[in-house]
Amino acid sequence: SYVLGIETSCDDTGLAIVDTDGRVHANVLESQQEFHTRYGGIIPPRAQDLHRARIESAYDRCLAEAQLQPDQLTAIAVTTRPGLPLSLLVGLRFARHLARRLKKPLLPVHHMEAHALQARMEQPATISFPFLCLLVSGGHCQLVMVRGPGRLSLLGQTLDDAPGEAFDKIARRLRLHVLPQYRLWNGGRAIEHAARLASQPLAYEFPLPLAQQRNCHFSFAGIKNNSFRAIRARERMEETPPDGVISNYGDFCAGLLRACSRHLMHRTQRALEYCLQPNVQLFGDAPPTLVVSGGVANNDAIYANMEHLAKQYNCRSFRPAKRYCSDNGVMIAWHGVEQLLQAGESCLRFDYDSIDVQGSAGFANSLEAD
Ligand code: ATP
Ligand code: FE
Repeated sequence: SYVLGIETSCDDTGLAIVDTDGRVHANVLESQQEFHTRYGGIIPPRAQDLHRARIESAYDRCLAEAQLQPDQLTAIAVTTRPGLPLSLLVGLRFARHLARRLKKPLLPVHHMEAHALQARMEQPATISFPFLCLLVSGGHCQLVMVRGPGRLSLLGQTLDDAPGEAFDKIARRLRLHVLPQYRLWNGGRAIEHAARLASQPLAYEFPLPLAQQRNCHFSFAGIKNNSFRAIRARERMEETPPDGVISNYGDFCAGLLRACSRHLMHRTQRALEYCLQPNVQLFGDAPPTLVVSGGVANNDAIYANMEHLAKQYNCRSFRPAKRYCSDNGVMIAWHGVEQLLQAGESCLRFDYDSIDVQGSAGFANSLEAD
């Protein structure tokens, strides 16, 4: 059977069709990056207008790509939380309208859960439940134990910024978007690329956040503020023009990525140690497994560090295929499939009007972190 997934939680309109074997039959993704780059960030009503203008044709293209008739869809999965309420509403209203017209069931999807489960689409047998997941994205930084769809418990999360958000703001402050090669890239991707150009990758050092704390929380505000300060100092020294970029931006990006990697490793190490304690054993009989997901999981340097860390604990590590790390409709459709596999028909909902969007929050804390 086929599940249509609809994602409009932020600034990407993503629609996709996935079957119960995890085969992707269509994947349509419309980015709004070009519009938001001009204003230096997302303006929610503008994002809503763009979703509205594009969702209908994205749906048509999705069916055409899959060579399916609407009747052949089994269910419609749609992101209902967390995210920008105005954006979420466009997806939900469209999904409701389709469901009513086609008399198909709706499956509400938690966006962060979809990020967490995506790696299973390619290898559901290998990545069995439970597993530890590091969710690193534009709006979140969380360590969660994943037992199944709707069964996630939070071990730790960021106390302030998310890493993707920090990358986007720092890249903007660095003015990387004025360099033609980075004009349409998100901040994290530009920083990753720039870091590879470093000639003195050790030139910048940042203090390790929360170094003394024995928990699994994160903090990126310190790294962000130190970054702003370092950029300002360099601009003064070089007398960089107001629309210019400091000459050693590659060195700076390398230092920034190293600092973020170290912090992510430090906290994930805590989580692994906790999960593996003999009197805790959160993995039970399953092989210890770490999954890294969310847009920042695209980053090869960060992922390589996490892989290295996992190995030290005899823990396997995975991430979704890169094209599915950032927001897309496939992960929403796959979450719908996971719900179907787990709960069967009982998760299918026809009470369209009682399904609503929920503003911006991550998971409730249902597990104490030591
Ligand atoms: P959330 O999932 O928390 O609601 P979001 O959906 O906006 O937020 P994602 O689409 O999962 O976030 O990820 C986007 C973020 O990923 C951006 O902040 C971007 O900077 C970051 N990102 C994308 N590619 C890379 C990369 N190669 N290295 C580092 N960060 C990256
Ligand atoms: Fe996301």
